Amino acid sequence: MSLPISLPSSIDVAVIGAGSSGISAARRLAKAGVSVVVLEARDRIGGRAFTKAREGIPLDLGCGWLHSADENVLCGIGRDAGFTIDETAPPWGRQAFNLGITPEEQVAFGEAWAAFDERVAEAAARGDDGPASTLFTPGGRWNARMDAISGAANGAKFGDLSILDYDAYEDSGINYRVVEGYGALIAALGAEAPVVLDCAVRRIDRSGARLMIETSRGTVEAQSLILTLPTSILASEGVRFDPPLPDLVEAAAGAPLGLASKLHMALHGWEEFPKDGQLWGRTDTAQTAGYHLRPFGRPIIEGYFGGDLAWGLEAEGEAAFFDFACSELADLLGSSFPKRLRALSTSMWGAEPFSLGAYSHVPPGQGDRLTGARARLRRPIEDRIFVAGEATSSNFYGTCHGAWMEGERAAVEAITALGVDPRLSDPEAH
Ligand SMILES: Cc1cc2nc3c(=O)[nH]c(=O)nc-3n(C[C@H](O)[C@H](O)[C@H](O)COP(=O)(O)OP(=O)(O)OC[C@H]3O[C@@H](n4cnc5c(N)ncnc54)[C@H](O)[C@@H]3O)c2cc1C
Repeated sequence: MSLPISLPSSIDVAVIGAGSSGISAARRLAKAGVSVVVLEARDRIGGRAFTKAREGIPLDLGCGWLHSADENVLCGIGRDAGFTIDETAPPWGRQAFNLGITPEEQVAFGEAWAAFDERVAEAAARGDDGPASTLFTPGGRWNARMDAISGAANGAKFGDLSILDYDAYEDSGINYRVVEGYGALIAALGAEAPVVLDCAVRRIDRSGARLMIETSRGTVEAQSLILTLPTSILASEGVRFDPPLPDLVEAAAGAPLGLASKLHMALHGWEEFPKDGQLWGRTDTAQTAGYHLRPFGRPIIEGYFGGDLAWGLEAEGEAAFFDFACSELADLLGSSFPKRLRALSTSMWGAEPFSLGAYSHVPPGQGDRLTGARARLRRPIEDRIFVAGEATSSNFYGTCHGAWMEGERAAVEAITALGVDPRLSDPEAH
């Protein structure tokens, strides 16, 4: 648990946001001997990495998987920090009990998915940047199921995704988890960072030689800043710049947040279900959720709702997620099954004012690696405003480790801009 710190009046670098990106930036800046403060609107560290304990079970409401685990910097950092990394393979590709889909159909779906991925890679190699859904097989049996998976993985359906941006994402196919919680790991990594909590940044006056950052706790003056706000907040000018930065707002609008929502349910009589099993509600529509049965062998089910389905259920309110899950699971497991379920926790990332969504995607036409939305977001402004976060990553966007690496990249830029040689504080440079 970090000690509460108060707002300093002046600092070298202010980091806005204490999520994965902000914490990584603050750690890198401190290592270089640069004075830094992190300004965080919420009353906790972690942002979209958030572990909440319910009935003694650590539940990840945001990120849960260490994607591309064989390349993921947070695996080693997590182990070094004393966290337990679980290497059980994810259950996503197999429908438990083959409910509602035969083994042959599951193979056919896998082939359809692989063929789609190949068409995406070919189109990207040609530089096409239309909607990824244009590469569906017209009238294909599995198109709706692909959109259901895209909703969960990208927070939006394939029609809303740029071919180039979707193709740029890197996935080694190896996925691990943190037993104590991914959010708990990020909070622990931020425990020593100088974070001011309950400190919402409202306006940044950049008219003078130093930046004046107005917050709910007063004003801090800084030489430079690292901005790690979710793009939907930047795009809606939840933090105002004076004079304004229309290019930044436009770039952020080019990588908006989609939505993914999690519902954790206690499961009575859990022993008869496979540890780390998976069910998808339906195979013929995008309006369906995934259900992770007994993650880590725990007596729970984690429902995962993506894209338009998640936005629609959020608009109806928390209870709608549970009702929807009960109805889908009753169809698969029998009408009395819902009696065995009890809602423990529901995420509402879209409605939360300090996230406004789950993770970023890039709409068609804005996915070019060098000139597209993510590249524009990454561009330093006046060599004193540096933008980081999951959305600025070209290959690991939408992830916690992508956000972490981007925080580090922005910190190195800020250190360099201050005239300090970042190599002097980089252990890997020696
Ligand atoms: C449901 C869900 C599932 C996910 N699953 C995975 C997964 O399995 N694996 C994975 O790698 N990633 C996953 N992610 C994505 C991952 O959680 C995010 O990409 C990552 O945590 C983003 O980190 P960040 O630092 O860029 O942003 P954030 O974590 O959003 O940090 C930004 C911070 O800024 C703060 N802030 C906002 N407004 C203000 C303001 N005005 N003033 C001051 N502070 C402000 C916020 O409170 C927040 O703490 C998931 C996300 C969700 C929502």
